[in-house]
Amino acid sequence: MRGAVMYAPGDVRVEDRSEPRIVEPTDAILRLSATCICGSDLWPWRGADALDGPVPMGHEYAGIVEEVGSEVTTIEPGQFVIGSFFASDNTCEICRAGYHSSCVHREGVGAEGAQAERLRVPLADGTLVATPDVPGDELLPSLLAASDVLGTGWFGAVAAEAAPGKTVAVVGDGAVGLLGVLAAKQLGAERIIAMSRHAPRQQLAREYGATDIVQDRGDDGVAAIKELTNGLGAHSVIEAVGTQESMLQAIRATRPGGHVGFVGVAHGVALPGEELFFSHVHLHGGPAPVRRFLPELIGLIWNRQIDPGKVFDLQLPLEQAAAGYEAMDRREAIKVLLQP
Ligand SMILES: [Zn+2]
Repeated sequence: MRGAVMYAPGDVRVEDRSEPRIVEPTDAILRLSATCICGSDLWPWRGADALDGPVPMGHEYAGIVEEVGSEVTTIEPGQFVIGSFFASDNTCEICRAGYHSSCVHREGVGAEGAQAERLRVPLADGTLVATPDVPGDELLPSLLAASDVLGTGWFGAVAAEAAPGKTVAVVGDGAVGLLGVLAAKQLGAERIIAMSRHAPRQQLAREYGATDIVQDRGDDGVAAIKELTNGLGAHSVIEAVGTQESMLQAIRATRPGGHVGFVGVAHGVALPGEELFFSHVHLHGGPAPVRRFLPELIGLIWNRQIDPGKVFDLQLPLEQAAAGYEAMDRREAIKVLLQP
């Protein structure tokens, strides 16, 4: 089969790779209908994450079950399924509490690379959620978004306690930030402030429910949020970048007693303890337990209540994966869907 492999920063190649096989009796093999490039894939592309030899890329996936192991009972060949970047059993105490991405049996799904024609998914019964039927092509982008960016933006909004009557600010205008806006709207937030300097992203943020746009960053961005909130700061802030600047901007834009939901993968973030102590801000975040939200999100997409697939503003054949990385790196595309 064909699959994308990163050899070095800026060097992604689509090449022949071995077909995935059932390894454990709890595995499933999927034929992927769509896959994509994640903002987090840009960290190694830009050299910010070390690469240890050629690495198969991709951890977002949706597709048709081709084969299941002998112990799989609820997932069967022919179903269209979506799963998250961490496989989870959905039965342990941590999963039952809603934290599937810290499942005691968790396994990374991305290790074998989802930017490919086929994928092995461990713990199929716990990890995969089937759609009511095989979807038409028009639903593929939105269903694929549920695999990571929608679930991650949603978790950011839930962790920030977005709710009716609240003002929510969103730091980061990538796909996760934009879908954090969508999630905040769905959760009933009264006012949603998107922080973005890019006109097409501002436009999509407004379509998803943003009521205000702030272009400033850093201290100026914090001041702008305070100005919009009677000097208090937002009740809820979604942090969807993962840098020191974005994290401090999020904390400082939150009012005392408010909540930060941080879902940008942290790179070199060190928080000043004394400032944190006096901030009276709740911090909650981490790798999103996407599996917790999948049934609800699939329902919203299936019933055409949300359209998260709009974040895919470029679709390319899998063979052109490298062009997709370049487009996202240069911010010419918000998110790139790859067609296997
Ligand atoms: Zn578990």
